[in-house]
Amino acid sequence: AHLARIEAVDEKVHAFLHVDREGALAQARRVDEKRASGEKLGPLAGVPLALKDIFTTKGIPTTVGSKILEGWIPPYDATVTRRLKEADIVILGKTNMDEFAMGSSTENSAYGPTGNPWDLTRIPGGSGGGSSAAIASYEAPLAIGTDTGGSIRQPAAVTGTVGVKPTYGGVSRYGMVAFSSSLDQGGPCARTVLDAALLHEAIAGHDPLDSTSIDAPVPSVVEAARNGDVKGMRVGVVKEFAGEGYQAGVMQRFDESVELLRELGAEVVEISCPSFDKALAAYYLIAPSECSSNLARFDAMRYGLRVGDDGTKSAEDVTALTREAGFGDEVKRRVILGTYALSSGYYDAYYGSAQKVRTLIKRDFERAFESVDVLISPTTPTTAFPIGERSDDPMAMYLADLCTIPTNMAGNAAMSLPCGLAPEDGLPVGLQIIAPAMADDRLYRVGAAVE
Ligand code: GLN
Repeated sequence: AHLARIEAVDEKVHAFLHVDREGALAQARRVDEKRASGEKLGPLAGVPLALKDIFTTKGIPTTVGSKILEGWIPPYDATVTRRLKEADIVILGKTNMDEFAMGSSTENSAYGPTGNPWDLTRIPGGSGGGSSAAIASYEAPLAIGTDTGGSIRQPAAVTGTVGVKPTYGGVSRYGMVAFSSSLDQGGPCARTVLDAALLHEAIAGHDPLDSTSIDAPVPSVVEAARNGDVKGMRVGVVKEFAGEGYQAGVMQRFDESVELLRELGAEVVEISCPSFDKALAAYYLIAPSECSSNLARFDAMRYGLRVGDDGTKSAEDVTALTREAGFGDEVKRRVILGTYALSSGYYDAYYGSAQKVRTLIKRDFERAFESVDVLISPTTPTTAFPIGERSDDPMAMYLADLCTIPTNMAGNAAMSLPCGLAPEDGLPVGLQIIAPAMADDRLYRVGAAVE
């Protein structure tokens, strides 16, 4: 049914870069056989899923939305891919994304944009717009995204779906193409909080192949999603995430969620996190710095594209020609910015200062979580904007992640879930819930209460 749905609508939505029809049907048959033979199956056995094209899939193309990896067939599965298969989940295909996960609209994909199923002329968010659009268009009930500065939560918000960035280190990064390694985190996308929790438990947990993976039990997110009791919970409204630049309808739906939490017995207070104002600026030094280092591996020798290798040019020239042809504008902008920020004489002024801001953000969270159990805010200041509106204005694009970036900087956990439609444009609004590191279960408890 989902393959038929993809066939019917994906020409318009363009959520998928690659549909693995044969692989999906083979996995579905395997699950049927297991069931028939009485073998034990996981809670999501046979459920179809759309996988962001940033995770390696053995024998299946993985492009990361970039021309530089066009035609590359990975020889191995990412840990997330492997766990999905082991959970008997059916992977339908790979979803569209901003090139190397750099963007907030999926317009930076080298393979063309994805439409928002609510209005195909609008963006589905980014970088994981394909994953969220696949869910919103009923092409898949579940998807996997990655969130470096908001790429799971912001697409979830603007497509009316649920997305979770787990605690940093909660889900393995092995086989997940690196953008900014200290911020990148994979996580679940779904239509309901409980669906997201079931998927969260299927992919989370320690992995010796990822040196930053947390060696501790996964928080009981499924139990929390089934519980949904917020009586007596202390909820902090982030004071800084309101005011100028926030759409009226977004704030209206957010205020209603605050009211609902009060009615359900939560104790709601306002919390100030003064360093959050500087998070965006610091992020746009740290993320480009780390990406300039990570993307050095795309040198025309190891993977994918190779341009100008006619036997007359030096290896350096072939590398340069390949990177020139293979990387898009946003990727080049960040590699240049990051190389500059890390260069000798500038390191302390830029990267060093950004790291200090990161510490201040962490302290703001620590102080906040002394008095509240979770923080809440709108996920993104506006609803889905029209395709093309911000594509020539990187600064305007960057603002979409104003509310989501602090969590990546500190490494704790956050969820976005739908909280209604903005009255002025009828488009979905996202509520963001933020929890301390390793308290991911609180997101699901609060999410299930207000869903
Ligand atoms: N939009 C942000 C960026 O462009 C975040 C992307 C992400 O989370 N991968 O970097």
